[in-house]
Amino acid sequence: MNEFSLINTYFKSKALPRSDVVFGIGDDAACLTLPPGMQLLVSCDTLVADVHFLSTWNSYDIAWKAAMVNISDIAAMGGTPCWLTLALTLPQLDESWLRHFSQGLHDALAQYNITLIGGDTTRGPLSMTLTIHGTIPEGKAIRRMGASPGDKIYVSGELGAAALAVHYLRQTMDETDRAVLMDKLLRPKPRIDLAADLQSFATAAIDISDGLSADLGHICEESTVGATLFIDKLPIHPLVKAYQDKNALDFALRGGDDYELCFTVASENEAQLLSRLEMKGIKVYPVGVIEEKLGLRSMERNGAVSKLEALGYRHF
Ligand code: ADP
Ligand code: MG
Repeated sequence: MNEFSLINTYFKSKALPRSDVVFGIGDDAACLTLPPGMQLLVSCDTLVADVHFLSTWNSYDIAWKAAMVNISDIAAMGGTPCWLTLALTLPQLDESWLRHFSQGLHDALAQYNITLIGGDTTRGPLSMTLTIHGTIPEGKAIRRMGASPGDKIYVSGELGAAALAVHYLRQTMDETDRAVLMDKLLRPKPRIDLAADLQSFATAAIDISDGLSADLGHICEESTVGATLFIDKLPIHPLVKAYQDKNALDFALRGGDDYELCFTVASENEAQLLSRLEMKGIKVYPVGVIEEKLGLRSMERNGAVSKLEALGYRHF
């Protein structure tokens, strides 16, 4: 098998048809039709072996996770994911690895009706760069820069489980609990379900990839505001409390990889947003408030306030 039969077998032949793809894999560039009134959202993420995933993981899981973390960036903008390119660097041509990888990728993309439209295949240390393209109605993209003092801060789901999974990768734990945590780490669920309502009501949004404090810190910096988080309101995953009671807060505030959304909403729109989400059965958690005073703070149930470092994962 050479590079081109590889691309054909594992990527081209399995790509989902979409009517907006004029042509995809096989030419020097793909050609796409953007519906009238829509703008294009583009985002890329690189995953490097033994930095973002273990090379011992099943390649199905690696591909699934790589796809989902990319899709999550479109969710954070309030958009609809449509098309993906994949730049794949492989140490060798391992057909079994590739078969599982491409199955995981196409299965993950099919969940959101996304299709693979191109890429690049090279030899080298295992890594992959995925570029996701999505659509958003003109002017509706939710940015990090829109939060204002008085806005309420929400998160879309429980925090800390993925970081706990990483923490216990090399330690013993109950195998049922481990399965729950590994599912959180390997199968994050990008919150595309929130996109339409956030488009109408959120003032700012970000996906929680580096940890709530770091990611909320980005919203605050871009919006030139500060924030106070209500510590007793944070939705900490029950297994985090069970295994790391003393450090549970650290996992929730600084643990990355959960891919829930953190968003802000003006208080006059809060009730309407909540009722729309409730009608769809989507639960979100109020965790704090945006303030004029710069920096992050945490507030205990008894009202005591302390400074909060915006710490999270950093490569450099
Ligand atoms: P070129 O050398 O002209 O850039 P390539 O020979 O690298 O093109 O790729 C041939 C075609 O296959 C292109 O359409 C490219 O987008 C696609 N392709 C290459 N690698 C991948 C991949 N890993 N996944 C999806 N499409 C790919
Ligand atoms: Mg070319």
